[in-house]
Formats: sequence, structure tokens, C-alpha cells
Amino acid sequence: MKALVAVKRVVDANVKVRVKPDNSGVDLTNVKMSINPFDEIAVEEAVRLKEKGTVSEIVVVSIGPKESQEQIRSAMALGADRGILVEADDNQLGALEVAKILKGVVEQEQPQLILLGKQAIDDDSNQVGQMLGALLNAGQGTFASEVKVEGDKVQVTREIDGGLQTVELNLPAIITTDLRLNEPRYAALPNIMKARKKPLDTKTPADFGVTSTTNLKTVKVEPPAERKAGVQVKSVDELVDKLKNEAKVI
Ligand code: AMP
Repeated sequence: MKALVAVKRVVDANVKVRVKPDNSGVDLTNVKMSINPFDEIAVEEAVRLKEKGTVSEIVVVSIGPKESQEQIRSAMALGADRGILVEADDNQLGALEVAKILKGVVEQEQPQLILLGKQAIDDDSNQVGQMLGALLNAGQGTFASEVKVEGDKVQVTREIDGGLQTVELNLPAIITTDLRLNEPRYAALPNIMKARKKPLDTKTPADFGVTSTTNLKTVKVEPPAERKAGVQVKSVDELVDKLKNEAKVI
């Protein structure tokens, strides 16, 4: 069966982001960009399913600027077979537009498994997988920590408040990955070289019938408040006194 994995180009998780001086967004100049970490987990899961013989082809899709090719190539170095870049201005697209484009890709590619991250770490929106499920009228197993494909069904164990829930979905199904699903491998150098030769198609949103832009406007982006310096106390008595009389928390 075919697996489609959606990978988003985001600021690398180890980068300390800077907000632009006019508070219009995050400054991306000379910032290291990577595959969204949850999407890397989605790629890894697809690769493991291919290694088991369940999946025969892995297609990765990314919607974003031309540079998103780098993330598609990284996914190919991890084991994906083929890539689709839907070239678009990220700022013009919201979760719904991304989901509509992905719906077009699914209709074209007809995958049985559609894997996404549970959320993109740049906007923490956690919407695309669910919207795609609704648009395709397909079952969805979100926040997956275990995936078992059996025949034309998939069992997804989900991380929910206070425990785990297992759901069974008919294929084709949407799965969004949580952190504990797997630990992605590092790409080996020969695979990075091989990835350069794998097929990568470039498309536009209009190719999938999407011409609308987002209704969402970012009003302001602010960095978190600076943490105030702490004080050192000499004794437990002094700590209790400060908590009682200064912080007034006890
Ligand atoms: P979000 O709902 O924006 O937090 O994103 C959830 C998941 O949807 C991500 O982890 C990706 O798998 C997928 N996704 C979101 N935006 C894009 C994009 N521009 N290109 C490809 N996949 C995306």
C-alpha cells in the first residue's frame, strides 16, 4: 500500500527564535530550517512500515516556499521514495487551505495511509490532520503512539488525558503522530546522496483547485516575557518568610 506523509518546513527546534522588531512575525533570516519534528516521526513510521513490507511506496508532500525541497530531500534520505512540493507562500495559507491542498494530493495519489504530525511547532495549530479527515470523510487516529496495520484496517493507540485509547479505522485513514510513536533515525550519508536522485514533482495550489487564501490575519507576535532573576535564600526559615510575606503564596 501507498503511504503519503505531509512534512512542513519549520524553524529548527533547537533554534532560539527572534521576533521581528515590528512584531509582525518571527525573523527567519539565516535561521536553520528543518522538517517539523512530528513530521519526522511520521516519515519514520512510514519507513518502518515499508521495512516490514506493509507499505510499498512512500510519497512525501510539502506545501511552502521553493526551499521546502530541502525538507523533502531530508525525508527521502530517511527512506521516502518520491516527493511533491506544492509551491506556495506560507503566509497566504491557513490550516484549511493546507488541508484542501492535501485533499487534492490524496485524491491524486490515492494513498491508504496518510500520515501527518500532530502539530507544526511553528504555529502550534493542531488542525490540519483533523480538517483533512473531515474534508476526505476519512477516519482519523490523532496523537498516535502506536500504529498497527491489519488487512484493510489500522489500529491506532492514541495518547489521551490520563491514559491510552485504541481506535480501529478503515483504510484509507489519517494518522497524526505524537512524540512517543518512535524515535526517528539519522540519515546515513549514502542515503543523503541517493535522495538527490529521487523524483520530486513541483505543483501549485491551483493544480489541486485551491485558489483561496487564508481569512486569518496575524495581528501581533510577541516574545515571552523575560524571566526575572531569582534570589538565593540562606535558610528554610527565610524561604518560608519570603513565600509568606513577599510572594504571599502561603
Ligand atoms: P498544524 O495543524 O498546522 O499544527 O499541522 C499539523 C500537521 O499538518 C503537520 O505536522 C504536518 O504534517 C501537516 N502540515 C501542516 N502544514 C503543512 C505544510 N505547509 N506542508 C505540509 N504539511 C503540513
